[in-house]
Amino acid sequence: MATYNTAELRRQNRNRVFRYIYSSGNPVTKQDIAQALNLSLPTVGQDLKELQEADLLEFQGTFDSTGGRKPRAIGIANNVRYSIGVYIGHKRIHMACINIRAQLLCSQRVSRPLTNDEEYARFLAQAIEDFIQINNIDTSRLLGVGIAVAGVPQPDKGVVTMSPVQPVTELDMNLLASHIPYPVLFENDANAGGLATWWVNPEKKNMIYLFLHRGIGGTMLLGGQPYHGSTLHGGEFGHMCLVPGGEACGCGQKGCFEAYCSTKRLSEDLGISIEEFFEGLQKGSEEYQKIWDSYLDYLAIGINNIHIVLDCQVVLGGLLAGYIGPYLPELRERLSKISTFETDGSYCTVSTFGYWSTCVGAALNFVSRFMDEI
Ligand SMILES: [Zn+2]
Repeated sequence: MATYNTAELRRQNRNRVFRYIYSSGNPVTKQDIAQALNLSLPTVGQDLKELQEADLLEFQGTFDSTGGRKPRAIGIANNVRYSIGVYIGHKRIHMACINIRAQLLCSQRVSRPLTNDEEYARFLAQAIEDFIQINNIDTSRLLGVGIAVAGVPQPDKGVVTMSPVQPVTELDMNLLASHIPYPVLFENDANAGGLATWWVNPEKKNMIYLFLHRGIGGTMLLGGQPYHGSTLHGGEFGHMCLVPGGEACGCGQKGCFEAYCSTKRLSEDLGISIEEFFEGLQKGSEEYQKIWDSYLDYLAIGINNIHIVLDCQVVLGGLLAGYIGPYLPELRERLSKISTFETDGSYCTVSTFGYWSTCVGAALNFVSRFMDEI
């Protein structure tokens, strides 16, 4: 049995008080906290004092009183710390900065094809430094830099085994982090996006995060926990077979979801960027409309399969999330038509962070650690 000393028990109480205020979203009173956590007012008072001394709280005015002193409105000091999330794409570096409330403060994209060498590592470190300078990010409050990658980070080997759609097979994690003068954590891109979407899902309902990028992946958040499966490939939705013997997939099989719904189909395969594709589509290009219709048909089949099995919300993230918003009604119509069960397709939504969910999730790893240590 674990034994706890008094200091540790007090820390745990303080942590509960902080998390209660954090999860409330709106300001609360000392009485609210005491009641919700079943703690005495003096205990809560002491915890609040310590949290205030650590600059973690903000007193946001007072509530109306029913007699006596007006209770103070207590909230979290959102900007007490910052965290940066970086997504290493095959052609671009994406950066975002959040505060501990997971509010997206600034973001930027920089073009640079991914290579596994010293030059890239130096370029990345400089890009992060420029991002910090331009946006006046106070580095004394910076928790670290989370790096999301299209692959599986293997810290014991010091490498990321990259997805087959990437130009690099193994990425040297130590080399990549070597020029960044802040703590660095690596995370899989789909898991990062899932974490971001989960973080702002206050009821922690069952949810599937579907990452639609050059590769397709996802995260399952079931029963209040991420579910990764027995051999950690749970959520690899991209390799569900949609068409037996169909198009070749990067994984070596045929007919995978990814072979039909990679964002490559809307960009590289046509020799254009994804922005150009959607511009053309809006301008009425018949060629693009045909491709988009077919893309949406397959996307609906993939999403419907996931929904049939898991029967919960499906949140879309990744590159496509930045563009699919206006087409969501069309997608939902398809979902409604092909489902065995009665649905209007509204279970399918787009991540609150849209395109930036991967960066936000990578950054949140540090926020999560910070909150654990309060
Ligand atoms: Zn595949």
